[in-house]
Amino acid sequence: MSSRKKLIAGNWKMNKTSADAVALCTEIVAAVGRQADVEVVVCPPFTAIESAAKVLDGSNVKLGAQNMHPEASGAYTGEISAGMLRALFATHVILGHSERRAYFGETDAFVNKKVLAALKNQLKPILCVGETLAEREAGTTLKVVQTQLEGGLEGVSKDQAPTVVVAYEPVWAIGTGKVATTEQAQEVHAFIRGLLVKLFGDAIAQKVRILYGGSMKPANAPELLAQKDIDGGLIGGAALEARSFVDLVNAAAAAK
Ligand code: PEP
Repeated sequence: MSSRKKLIAGNWKMNKTSADAVALCTEIVAAVGRQADVEVVVCPPFTAIESAAKVLDGSNVKLGAQNMHPEASGAYTGEISAGMLRALFATHVILGHSERRAYFGETDAFVNKKVLAALKNQLKPILCVGETLAEREAGTTLKVVQTQLEGGLEGVSKDQAPTVVVAYEPVWAIGTGKVATTEQAQEVHAFIRGLLVKLFGDAIAQKVRILYGGSMKPANAPELLAQKDIDGGLIGGAALEARSFVDLVNAAAAAK
């Protein structure tokens, strides 16, 4: 049994108004607000973070953002800083999601700046890595993941590393209903663990949570979560309904 506490994080993407967030968070808190065996995080859009924070206050459910800018403040129209997120009691931030890489041109170097800024501000980064279908078919999955992981974590100290969360999200499995097989997922998770050992040493690498993301649902979660190096899930579609999200949290509790 792993000593790492499982983590289930919901990435709501560009869904839910502030009022919707209140309703969804109210249901989540009622069902798993006292869950202590699994770390539960919800990541609403920026416009719903404050209303979600009020509902989550006093519960064990934590608040995350889906992105942030690396600078502390200034002329960056449309952007949000780590300090702004901290002021709303956010504890986590998703960085380098494949949709940000694909649609907004985010590079490993830019993602790395965000990771360092998040850590400097006591926000826990959820660093996303993962290959496209073309890259998997070309046999370059591990190389792609290595480049993204090492690029994203450059300059992260051994002290900071245990607070980093890595999310392995094969791009071809995100929102497609095509989940990676447990063998495919575990192979990459074990590879990531090995890279973390090289970067930070074994003791620290064993503390870092590595989440799987990509069409994770209550039906496929138990098998994925039973794998040695799969420490939870980053959940898109199934995080938009309280029932499926709560079922995933319960699956993680059962798998621990
Ligand atoms: C995601 O976007 O992080 C994700 C895993 O989405 P989905 O669960 O919908 O595949």
